[in-house]
Amino acid sequence: MSLWANVPAGPALPTGIVDAVVVGGGPAGLTAAIYLARAKTDPVVLAGTAFGGQLMDTGIVENFPGFPEGVDGPELMTRMREQAENAGASVFMLDADAITFAAPGDDAPVHEVTTAEGVVRTRSIVLATGSSPKRLGLPGEQEMGGGLGVAYCAVCEAPLFKAKDVVVVGGGDSAMEEALALSKHARRVRLVHRSASFRAAPVLVGRVRGTANVEILTDSVVTALHADGAGRLERVTVEGPAGTVQLPAQGLFVAIGHTPRTELTGEALPLSPTSHLHTTGLGGATALPGVFAAGDVADDRFRQAITAAGAGCAAALEASRYLEGIHV
Ligand code: NAP
Repeated sequence: MSLWANVPAGPALPTGIVDAVVVGGGPAGLTAAIYLARAKTDPVVLAGTAFGGQLMDTGIVENFPGFPEGVDGPELMTRMREQAENAGASVFMLDADAITFAAPGDDAPVHEVTTAEGVVRTRSIVLATGSSPKRLGLPGEQEMGGGLGVAYCAVCEAPLFKAKDVVVVGGGDSAMEEALALSKHARRVRLVHRSASFRAAPVLVGRVRGTANVEILTDSVVTALHADGAGRLERVTVEGPAGTVQLPAQGLFVAIGHTPRTELTGEALPLSPTSHLHTTGLGGATALPGVFAAGDVADDRFRQAITAAGAGCAAALEASRYLEGIHV
């Protein structure tokens, strides 16, 4: 018998036309949900099967205002979700699988969002689908994911690399945080960065430099991954100022940025030159009436939890104004 057999089914998706659907369950989506719920729009939040966004893969968040001691990323997201629900939002742990937008020029546009449990018809949408980690694109990278050595989240997987040699790739805040998280478990961490200078905050670079079991290799690129007979990563080839070297590595943590998740909207919504959803004004307006975007899917500049939350707030306020205009 399934573990879930006795768990009562949650509420069903609404069948009529709703005022607002939020797609995404990270800081942008859940903040939009709080504001839309308080505006009495009864938002339906499709928070995704992987609810919470990137903060679910984060340890202590030290730069979200209001938490002087820092706050655990998953706990922050759980609290945001509870706050959205308390405000009256219906939060579903469902992915939006497809969106059919109303035809441009439609006087009373209604968009359709398809999920595994049915279609929701809505007058407005806040898209807050976030972004996903970039891959290096090396042969074997995909095959060695899923527990065989290649990973994209040290906070999730660092304890698996106790007393092992690991390599982190990247020079931004994420790479620094990965290196620091891994240094607590691994025997040796090598941070391989393709440039001479770092994008990461100097305070984080300083912490990494001050960590005894972390070595930094700048102007260096991982060019090949090598597996043992069982298909597990055992070393990587790095090209840098010292020439081509082979580094033992049972783990490779790739922290080279993220790709905005725009696959749902396809060609229906224009993208910016950086492939983010193109928005105009501060409220995240897209090219379609009633459709707004917020957070990392539309942000090529700040990409912070707090700016995503702020953008979610702004998009929700704009969506509420749009709905008021429809309902007069
Ligand atoms: P990022 O700042 O965009 O840095 C990506 C890094 O990866 C850069 O150093 C880049 O090198 C390198 N890179 C990109 N493509 C590469 C490739 N194909 N091969 C090798 N290296 C490559 O990304 P991030 O570190 O994920 O940070 C994203 C945003 O989240 C930033 O705004 C950051 O401040 C924020 N963030 C904040 C925190 C925090 O405040 N605690 C934590 C994590 C992230 P180059 O420098 O040479 O281009």
